[in-house]
Amino acid sequence: MIKVIGFDLDNTLWPVKPAILHAEQQLKIHLAAVAPGIDYPPDDIQDLRDTVLAEHPDYSFRLTDLRRAILHRLVQREPKHHDQAEDVVDRAMKVFLKARNHVTLYSGAEAALRTLSQTYALCTLTNGNADVGQLSIGGFFQLKLSAEDVGAPKPKPDLFLAALAHFQCQPEEMVYVGDDPILDVDAASKLGIHTIWKTTIDARSAADVVPASEIIVDLTALPSAIARINDRISTERE
Ligand SMILES: [Mg+2]
Repeated sequence: MIKVIGFDLDNTLWPVKPAILHAEQQLKIHLAAVAPGIDYPPDDIQDLRDTVLAEHPDYSFRLTDLRRAILHRLVQREPKHHDQAEDVVDRAMKVFLKARNHVTLYSGAEAALRTLSQTYALCTLTNGNADVGQLSIGGFFQLKLSAEDVGAPKPKPDLFLAALAHFQCQPEEMVYVGDDPILDVDAASKLGIHTIWKTTIDARSAADVVPASEIIVDLTALPSAIARINDRISTERE
């Protein structure tokens, strides 16, 4: 039977785009106030990003380090801010990360997590840099891991294996819920973990596209999807 439920965060428990846009807007306002002359994002943000990633390929999943390095280069361009570059970047990153945690949960998320946390151990396994501990739902999770914590992003198995080891459970005793067919569903199911694809497309046509154990479009459907997986497990045992 299922013991552990793992969750992706961005676009699974909340839409990520509004949170990042909000955080970047706050960053822009902050920089305009404390470091005049630095416009964020700069016209060549993509080039800056590529340059930093070429030097630090692992920043592709160390998103806080990536943004910090980009900001650092940006601040360095303004001679008048050279001396306080570290300070400017530190403060700017605090503004960004705080704003990045201003997420709006999908409807039904909190209720589903509350219900499921009474029966199952819940954990978060994310490639992103949201800090779920800062959110109202943070207390529902017994384990919160990011790609940075384990040194490798999904679809690599490290995050899943770390969760299995932490809870001392078998892959078939775990369900993973995520929105990405490759990073979430395919990666977890390759390890024998049950999967629930949280998608916005029609579930019946989706089943042909992504072979998840269950497909949901709404988090209110999550407890019953878990129950169906448990039913199948007990039927197979009989
Ligand atoms: Mg996601």
